[in-house]
Amino acid sequence: MTVSATLYTQNPDESARQPARSSPLPQSLRRIIVVGGGSAGWMTALILARTLIPRGVEVTVVESPAVGIIGVGEGSTPWLRGFFDSLGIEESEWMPACHATYKCGITFAGWSTKPGFESYFHPFASMLDNLTMKQFVHNCDARVRGVDVHAHPDRFFIASRLAAKHLAPKPETNFPFDIWHGYHFDSVLLGQFLQKKALQRGVRYVAAHVTQALLGESGAIEALQTRDGPNIDGDMFVDCTGFAGLLITQALKTPFVSFANNLFNDAAIALPSPMGSVVPSQTISTALKHGWAWRIPLTERYGNGYVYSTQFCSPDQAEHELREHLGLTDDSDVSARHLKMKIGRVTKHWNKNCVAVGLSQGFIEPLEATALLFIQQTATTFVEFLERGDLGEAAQEQFNAQVNAHFEGTRDYIVTHYKTNSRTDTEYWRANAANLQLSEPLKQLLSLWMSGKGIAPAIRQQALGKGYPIFSWYSIMAGMGIFPDPHTLRPPAPGEHIYPLTAIDDLLERSSRNYRDHAQVLGNIPARRQGDSLQIYFW
Ligand SMILES: Cc1cc2nc3c(=O)[nH]c(=O)nc-3n(C[C@H](O)[C@H](O)[C@H](O)COP(=O)(O)OP(=O)(O)OC[C@H]3O[C@@H](n4cnc5c(N)ncnc54)[C@H](O)[C@@H]3O)c2cc1C
Repeated sequence: MTVSATLYTQNPDESARQPARSSPLPQSLRRIIVVGGGSAGWMTALILARTLIPRGVEVTVVESPAVGIIGVGEGSTPWLRGFFDSLGIEESEWMPACHATYKCGITFAGWSTKPGFESYFHPFASMLDNLTMKQFVHNCDARVRGVDVHAHPDRFFIASRLAAKHLAPKPETNFPFDIWHGYHFDSVLLGQFLQKKALQRGVRYVAAHVTQALLGESGAIEALQTRDGPNIDGDMFVDCTGFAGLLITQALKTPFVSFANNLFNDAAIALPSPMGSVVPSQTISTALKHGWAWRIPLTERYGNGYVYSTQFCSPDQAEHELREHLGLTDDSDVSARHLKMKIGRVTKHWNKNCVAVGLSQGFIEPLEATALLFIQQTATTFVEFLERGDLGEAAQEQFNAQVNAHFEGTRDYIVTHYKTNSRTDTEYWRANAANLQLSEPLKQLLSLWMSGKGIAPAIRQQALGKGYPIFSWYSIMAGMGIFPDPHTLRPPAPGEHIYPLTAIDDLLERSSRNYRDHAQVLGNIPARRQGDSLQIYFW
């Protein structure tokens, strides 16, 4: 099993470093207008500001005083660390400001009914997992072929051990094994923090409600008409207006591809609850009757919510079920927020002189907390294209193909959670399991798994399962118990190699003792050590 680690970021001192000057920016690019001041607007503004303000480009965020932000979205992938690192912003600064906690991964509870597989943990990977990945993949492949070996992911990854013990993915100073980790945070506070940073870094701000985009003869956007003030001119416009898609959809009429035929959830409810003295270092996603509930620990409270399908249950039923699940009665004075979700993506994220970032470009339900990653990657890739000085049609097509492939890959991984469920208690779960509207690559991956030949080579070559690494695909398939019926399993044949688990248990237990208590670490977040960098592990 080969392992590759990508060095993602730079030393803290480099935050002030100016990006290397590449091709000259097009003369026509002097003013970029970002419409929207949610997480997408401010993250994009900061990414643009870092590279473009030093090169004389003006970056302005326009935000409506009349339309609020969505105000949910409390979990991240590990890439968010790369975002802050690239801006030279320390965890010790942003995490307390956003009531943030560390995230080792996600427990999926109740998605499978197969004995022994009622719950599993989708870990973030680490250097230490080099020592156990080979055994995990070997055992999974053997079990699919009918050999009676242990192949549940939880016993093979250090992150699941840390999460189970409420430890932070932060080792003692003398233990050199870095862990790839994400975060939980208060999304409203995150928006405020990002806004403050962006303004400090030279981003301009205009509070104005945009009534419409004015198009020129070429069909590109020339200016924005506002409700009470003057028109706002720009050379390039970034649509961060959330589900409204004011520029990309309403003005430019960019077609939208719905994912509703294989992702049924279209609504959510959010509800806070009090935090105790133990602060977990994981998200818990529990399957309920018509969707799933999230439980996200922040330093000051839990964020909870229910993502469900209105085809199968009403908002009132969903709220009742969520409150029951949380042990909060219907008459509790904690009010719930009800939200609608539009699942899918636009066909062109970059259309004429407009780029859509955030919910305006599309959304895949939050089961793997990938939305901020889409924002980060879309904005970063756009800056790379600008730096190349190429804004032509071929560049736009290449950009759109890249972002669309990211959406499709992530969609397939999320669909797998539903397709592999074995619940039969409601029509919702039966319909998900019976759903045949799968992409060709996903069909091939599922049938390759069932063949027992192993899916690792196809994922490594990026032929199948794009967007998620080998350990994620093995974790989901094994974690859901997609193996032959236990009664049909045979003992390993003489000479057939199997990995005993005792050595792995021992290794993970000893290793876990080098990681620190989560609540304690949050009380005093250490500054990054000189030379620390984000290692991204892919198998
Ligand atoms: C239930 C749910 C759970 C989620 N969980 C996660 C998660 O765990 N992890 C994750 O990464 N993401 C999650 N997300 C997604 C995440 O919330 C969003 O991707 C993120 O907040 C970015 O939103 P946004 O900035 O695109 O839109 P919004 O927050 O909706 O911001 C839109 C902005 O546009 C402005 N605007 C709108 N109309 C106008 C106008 N006419 N003129 C001027 N300004 C205008 C508004 O004032 C606002 O500032 C979740 C989403 C939902 C629905």
